[in-house]
Amino acid sequence: MMPRKTILVVMAMFAAAAPGRAGEIADGIHLLPGRFVQGSQPDGNTVVLEAPSGLIVVDTGRHPAHAQAILDFAARARRPVAAIVNTHWHLDHLGGNPRVRRAHPGVRVWASDALAGAMTGFLADYRAHLEGALARADLDTLAAATMRAELAILDQGDALAPDEIVAATGARTIAGRELVLGLETRAVTDGDVWLFDPATRVLVAGDLVTLPVPLPDTACPRRWQAALARLAEVDFALLVPGHGPVLTREDFARYRTAFGNLLDRAAADSSSTACAEGWLHDIGPLVPADEHAFARILLDYYVDNHLRTGR
Ligand SMILES: [Zn+2]
Repeated sequence: MMPRKTILVVMAMFAAAAPGRAGEIADGIHLLPGRFVQGSQPDGNTVVLEAPSGLIVVDTGRHPAHAQAILDFAARARRPVAAIVNTHWHLDHLGGNPRVRRAHPGVRVWASDALAGAMTGFLADYRAHLEGALARADLDTLAAATMRAELAILDQGDALAPDEIVAATGARTIAGRELVLGLETRAVTDGDVWLFDPATRVLVAGDLVTLPVPLPDTACPRRWQAALARLAEVDFALLVPGHGPVLTREDFARYRTAFGNLLDRAAADSSSTACAEGWLHDIGPLVPADEHAFARILLDYYVDNHLRTGR
């Protein structure tokens, strides 16, 4: 778990920007890219699948503009949102649930049961931290607005929570479409859900896979590594990560190798600088040169704070 005071250190690394444009990555499957750049909080990627009884939306972002992009997509498609699948409880993946629920009251939300534990643990600590920081007089206006927006998401309570609990990996029919939902426990969070569409062989991995670097804020790194080995056994052709561009199988193999090497270097007490250089070498073209500086800042923080112990 991330210590409270470090949460805003990471928050300060990210920058607000308009959501990216939607693109069709396979027949009837659309990616609404989440923004993840230096200077403000990120939005996770959203994937929209066309289904017989409406749209299936995987993750809803954090900022209102990202949720609005989902609603605009549904309006253009003239389809209701029939289901949301949340890959995990981080606010950049479920913060838009309430807004989508209000616009599409028939929606059913699928997720693991991990949000409930987070609401009394990590997210309760996060709320206390935000309230404490907002009570201080020395906060600048932008930081205060960002913190109030985070509290506004937490205040949504049950509107964030699932209607259908994913308790094990297995086939599911959602909105009339045959899918596989996978569950990994104590990997990135206590309950990470992935979605595989057999018809198109698209795998939506959530934050089990992220670029430009893995994001271990609430993770158990070695169990996470084992979860990546299970993903490799899924017969996918394309993998949509929680942050970053769509990957091929070959790209994912490179990611797994780089991930394993990163954990090994951190466990061997290599410096955070050496770990970052090793990561950028191993990951190669999957992190373009103009993102190297951002990747180094992130790993400089994560290696020392979250990857050393590999608990
Ligand atoms: Zn995320």
